[in-house]
Amino acid sequence: MAKIIKCAFCSGTGKDPFDLLSAISHCLVCNGTGQVEVDEPLKKCVFCSGTGKNPLGARVPCIACGGKGYNHCESNLKCTQCRGTGKSSDGLTCTRCGGKGFNKQ
Ligand SMILES: [Zn+2]
Ligand SMILES: [Zn+2]
Ligand SMILES: [Zn+2]
Repeated sequence: MAKIIKCAFCSGTGKDPFDLLSAISHCLVCNGTGQVEVDEPLKKCVFCSGTGKNPLGARVPCIACGGKGYNHCESNLKCTQCRGTGKSSDGLTCTRCGGKGFNKQ
C-alpha cells in the first residue's frame, strides 16, 4: 500500500527549495505537487533525519530516500553494520542497508 505524504525536500511547497534553476522551478522530487508516495510500512529516513536533503551538503535530494524523507522499510531490526545510522564510515550511505538504517536479518 502506498501512502501519500508531504514532500520533505520542498516541505510540501512543490518548489525547488534551492532555486537551482529559477525561483519558480518545480521540486524535482515531487514534480511540483508537494506530495510523494512511499509504500507502507514506512520509516522516517535516518540518513537525512527526514529532511529529504542530502546531509553531505550538496544541494540535492537525500540519496537514501530520494528526497521523500521516508523510506519503505519492513524491518524493525537495526542494521548491524551502521547500527541504525544509515551511514558508513566515509559518510556515504551504508552499503548493507542502503542508508535506511534497518534491514532484515
Ligand atoms: Zn517536493
Ligand atoms: Zn533521506
Ligand atoms: Zn546499515
